[in-house]
Amino acid sequence: MSLRFQAINNYHKRSGGVEVGPSTKVTAIFGENVFTQKVAREFLSDEAYKSLNASIRGGKKIDRAVANQIAAGLRSWAESKGVTHYTHWFQPLTGTTAEKHDSFFTIKSDGTAIEEFDGAALIQQEPDASSFPSGGLRATFEARGYTAWDPSSPAFIMEIGHGRTLCIPTIFVAYTGESLDYKAPLLKALAALDKAAVEVCNYFDKNVTKVTATLGWEQEYFVIDEALANARPDLLLTERTVYGAAPAKGQQLDDHYFGSIPERVYAFMRDFEAESYKLGIPLRTRHNEVAPAQFECAPIFEEVNLAVDHNTLLMDVMSRVAKRHKLRVLLHEKPFAGINGSGKHNNWSMATDTGVNLLAPGKTPKTNLMFLTFFVNTIKAVHDYSGLLRSAIASAGNDFRLGANEAPPAIISVFVGEYLSRVLGEIEGRVGEKFDEQDEAILKLDLHRSIPELLLDNTDRNRTSPFAFTGNKFEFRAVGSSANCGNPMTVLNTIMADTLRTFKKDVDALIEKGDKKEVAIMHIIQKYIVESKAVLFEGDGYSDDWEVEAEKRGLPNIKTTPLALDAMISEKAKHLFTTNGVYSESEMEARHEIELEKYIKKVQIEARVMGDLATNHILPAAIRYQNQLITNVRGLKDLGIDHALYSTQLTMLEKISEHISVIRYNVEQMVEARKVSNNIADTREKAISYQTEVKDKYFDLIRYHVDKLELLVADEEWTLPKYRELLFLR
Ligand code: ADP
Ligand code: MG
Repeated sequence: MSLRFQAINNYHKRSGGVEVGPSTKVTAIFGENVFTQKVAREFLSDEAYKSLNASIRGGKKIDRAVANQIAAGLRSWAESKGVTHYTHWFQPLTGTTAEKHDSFFTIKSDGTAIEEFDGAALIQQEPDASSFPSGGLRATFEARGYTAWDPSSPAFIMEIGHGRTLCIPTIFVAYTGESLDYKAPLLKALAALDKAAVEVCNYFDKNVTKVTATLGWEQEYFVIDEALANARPDLLLTERTVYGAAPAKGQQLDDHYFGSIPERVYAFMRDFEAESYKLGIPLRTRHNEVAPAQFECAPIFEEVNLAVDHNTLLMDVMSRVAKRHKLRVLLHEKPFAGINGSGKHNNWSMATDTGVNLLAPGKTPKTNLMFLTFFVNTIKAVHDYSGLLRSAIASAGNDFRLGANEAPPAIISVFVGEYLSRVLGEIEGRVGEKFDEQDEAILKLDLHRSIPELLLDNTDRNRTSPFAFTGNKFEFRAVGSSANCGNPMTVLNTIMADTLRTFKKDVDALIEKGDKKEVAIMHIIQKYIVESKAVLFEGDGYSDDWEVEAEKRGLPNIKTTPLALDAMISEKAKHLFTTNGVYSESEMEARHEIELEKYIKKVQIEARVMGDLATNHILPAAIRYQNQLITNVRGLKDLGIDHALYSTQLTMLEKISEHISVIRYNVEQMVEARKVSNNIADTREKAISYQTEVKDKYFDLIRYHVDKLELLVADEEWTLPKYRELLFLR
């Protein structure tokens, strides 16, 4: 029996999934495995606690003696919860998380065995970095790197079965200082934003001393049966089905979105939610998504660094918990052709330490002017750096999704809703006039009354926008479901920091010339609206008209990763990142190289899997069925039956034979194309070649014939689980 039918049998033998106990109140377990401030208070001395807090709040350095105390406190807390090992937990550029477990256990020089965890072990570690991507950084600079403690993200305990490990969030850098992960540049970007935003806030409120960027992600994913997934080598190796004919029923009835959550998936959700709560991940919503077997979860928003850690952690927890339920989570952007793919909307805003959301319209003219300032600066930042934002979401997986009439197009535009469009239009309409202090445009900025209207406006049309204002935050929707949010968040916060710094300079220049503060601010806001209005778009982002219109407006529309990545190393990007202290030029070049290599490898693996599956699964099944037909025709002929009565079989034979030969031929051609691409030395050229000469030329072509065969060949000969089984057996 083929693995496909064994898998279907296994599926039928499952007794409705794993038992998950009754729900506990979330607050009873929330943060149970996190070294929270409250726990720190309990386990640390006054001195250590204060030092840790100062470091969390203001990035103050912790000295060795205090670090020893903190480490001791951490260990006694962890041991009280049955922990034996610890690890520095970090996010290398591979896109997954990395850990190297060390035991507290050690043997002293006199032979006594003790458990130990000192400040040095807390603060710094040297993982064997040679197997993490560095884009040539390590080759050029230094062969090894180290992980360093990030006190702003609390330590947590990861439970795997009965094992418990203390995880310490860290950054990962080369000895020469270059960052090798997602977190280190993100922290720099957030610091740059904090500084620039506080200075602008001080125009309106002198009490603001800190601005934190906030992120609430929405994670989409597919869940399918594990046995069925294991019977698909493509899912196993690429998380994507490279073949598969569309099932008779897909998502056309929209019945999944509104339907109830299937029981087995529901048990899985409750289980991974409980794990997440213990880790302090504040999940709040769960629901079905549009495609069959597709779901979404979202937390309450948090400070960006923590939110990014929590998202990475969640992806890990989900995949692990799914195994317990004999399910497989697919985080790939496009696991199935013909139905929606998955994204990860990044809801983003900024908040002051005085408790103000800087992207929420205020209740007074003054607070509204502050809102308008941050709102217009965001639009300007996205306008000026749309290419860079596009590069931050580029990946082989996301290429299948962007612009596919389900996800935002590859054109970066901003949706602000009808009301705010009008407000911006009115300010822009007064170009040439001088604002004055008693100006209606300033005094009558009456935005809060319009919030309900704003929200109404947001429920429909903005779905097609990659970057939409949704009442009190922007939603960056083009991010891929498997992505680490760290990269898009680094870019977004850096471009915002940079734009705000320029804004401050521009306003100060006008004030110096004698303008009143509010008037100067209004003038610069007006100037920015004029300069960036090309990026504003309220229409249907999926329409062909928009592509034409966007081109007229000069907005970039780059559809493939190798070219989208160019923006990462443009002169403009280099200037931006170096002046804001986020990346050095060599770091940017290294990252560019790494992204290109990731792209090449992904396409390479998919091409190989396509070839293997065609040769080992598809063609043998087709030939078996071909032989059955031949035997049948021969038999009928031998009996002297009229030729007309088996002509159907002959036509089928012809069709099958034709598909077989086209597949065979193109698989061979694709291997040749890969060889040509592999011989290209320049990484960018190689990536472009893999895209145009391998992927574009052969993927759809081969797939077309394989999917046709799937519809012709007898079901029982077909060895790969079909879409209907993957999507509807759960
Ligand atoms: P919707 O479900 O309509 O998209 P929600 O208000 O439920 O809108 O928010 C969606 C996501 O946006 C949630 O993860 C939420 O936490 C997040 N969010 C809300 N306010 C902010 C904010 N100020 N900053 C960042 N994210 C936010
Ligand atoms: Mg949303």
